[in-house]
Amino acid sequence: MLEAYSRAWCEIDYDTIEHNLKEIQKLMNKTKVMGIVKANAYGLGALPIAKTLRDLGIDYFGVSSVDEAIELREGGIQENILILGYTPPEHFSKLVEYDLVQSFLSEEYAKKLNDFAKAKDVVVRGHLKLDTGMNRIGIPFQDGHKEIEALKTIYELPYLRVEGIFSHFPVSDDLGQDARRFTKHQIELFEEAISYLKEEGIDPGLRHIQNSYGILNYGDLGFDYCRPGLLFNGMTSDDSIDTAYHLGLKPILTLKANVSLVKWIKAGESVSYGRHFVAQKPTKVATLSIGYADGLSRLVSNQGLEVLLHGKKAKLIGNICMDQCMADVTEIEGVQEGDEAVIVGEQEGNRVTIDRISRMMNTINNETLTSLASRLPRLPKK
Ligand SMILES: *Cc1c(COP(=O)(O)O)cnc(C)c1O
Repeated sequence: MLEAYSRAWCEIDYDTIEHNLKEIQKLMNKTKVMGIVKANAYGLGALPIAKTLRDLGIDYFGVSSVDEAIELREGGIQENILILGYTPPEHFSKLVEYDLVQSFLSEEYAKKLNDFAKAKDVVVRGHLKLDTGMNRIGIPFQDGHKEIEALKTIYELPYLRVEGIFSHFPVSDDLGQDARRFTKHQIELFEEAISYLKEEGIDPGLRHIQNSYGILNYGDLGFDYCRPGLLFNGMTSDDSIDTAYHLGLKPILTLKANVSLVKWIKAGESVSYGRHFVAQKPTKVATLSIGYADGLSRLVSNQGLEVLLHGKKAKLIGNICMDQCMADVTEIEGVQEGDEAVIVGEQEGNRVTIDRISRMMNTINNETLTSLASRLPRLPKK
């Protein structure tokens, strides 16, 4: 890939990650920050973001898979790396080879890892995942369904080194009464599991439960780590959702595309596939070199999505194509081939957010971000 500004690209403001991290740290006091950089750091580049965080003192990272962990290791990250999800048995040896920390996501799975480690005479590091209500992965630990003895069993497996315990919130973004009650009860269950281990004479190790919204809505809970991901990128999942604490986060992403052609069309002429836009009057149209194969979803076609040109807002018209789309620039003076259009970010003091795209698609910013195509170069901000 050309490491250059080409047809469409992301510019990442790595300096602003420091600001975002400090905002989190101010709220979390002594609770350390684990850098969750799964899914290529939510699409913005796992290795450069992990390196930035490491240089700022972050000593623990979280990823979704062994592949993502190896990418960090091979890229020079020497800090602890927790795999938040499943590693299949054929890759168990990689956990040892790359000194990774695996989630122990069930009693059966932990025993399988222990058998592997015993056969190879190695030790597998990990954190015990406790399921306090997400019902995704983890040892069940909910009212009416507590596999409490499994905790002790796993901690005592001789070829595993259980260095921590963690759980996850499904509704920490919701400030409604039921959701708050649910989340607070999860915290109680988590504490109950920790107390049980201590009573059994077992050191639970590192304790962590808070994701981004867990931080924004519950503040410092006094555990060892918190696990933000999206917050480093300076955004939450949905701008319309209020939170208990407000951090001064700044977005690090600018998404840009070049203008390839500008021309006037006459009243009655249509634009793009399907002819869904028909000009009512002479219209100046700019073609932008970005399309749905870059992650600008075809679902936002013909919904009036605005982009910035010369710092002014221009509406996209007609269907978004695979590699291109068109904008109405009738009211903007001087737009020409080679100009930069801003799809997400700031230009001449005006801003267009990723959130407006997510709202049109009825999804969360996490998905919009991770849909940015791998073919878009991720470049440091100019
Ligand atoms: C993705 C994930 C996180 C980070 O979530 P954010 O909402 O981006 O902060 C934390 N913990 C687990 C287990 C995750 O899967």
